[in-house]
Amino acid sequence: MRRARPESIGLSYLNALEYCPRRFYYEFVQGDMLVNEFVLEGTLLHQRADQPGQSAKGEGHIEINHLYLYSEKLGVSGFADVVVEQADKLFPIEYKHGRQGKWLNDNIQLCAQALCLEERQPELAPIEFGYIFYWGSRRRVQVDFTPELRAKTLQSIERAFETAALEVPPPPLEGKLAGRCRDCSLEPMCLPAEVKLLKTATKVMEGVK
Ligand code: SF4
Repeated sequence: MRRARPESIGLSYLNALEYCPRRFYYEFVQGDMLVNEFVLEGTLLHQRADQPGQSAKGEGHIEINHLYLYSEKLGVSGFADVVVEQADKLFPIEYKHGRQGKWLNDNIQLCAQALCLEERQPELAPIEFGYIFYWGSRRRVQVDFTPELRAKTLQSIERAFETAALEVPPPPLEGKLAGRCRDCSLEPMCLPAEVKLLKTATKVMEGVK
């Protein structure tokens, strides 16, 4: 048995999926969320960018805040914190509360925004890069939308639809990836160590029978 394939996946959930498929399942399929100090900090820091509006920043430079984006072709939708139009080029900017991580989750979310923008405004495609501003380090990082990142983003979207159709959450992260659980706000709900222990105990019991 599988769940029905959803019509659309939210752009921000691609970030969760890339971080951990189990986390994606909790948030997207079950609508679960735990608010800790990091989640709260992220919400507060987003409030500025989340004020919808458009402002001219100079000759041929327009910034649009909290812009709704969607792609009918890919089945994704959501908001970009900021989209800049400058000299007939577009680029998205995303604000993150922490520091740049070692993983591609933020880049994939930003690239998916670019794919939506390209579909909506093909006359301004291709979008070559975007930026992520990390409040934790006060660093603005340029993300190039390379063919590799675009391919990974498309794979991630497909994987999101597959994961969303599962009947139960995927298992907790294993091996090196399990290091991510330390920074995961859903850890108290997910209980990865307890789930693994139970799995091991069940295997032992089955061996005894
Ligand atoms: S605690 Fe670990 S396994 Fe569980 S949702 Fe978070 S990252 Fe995934």
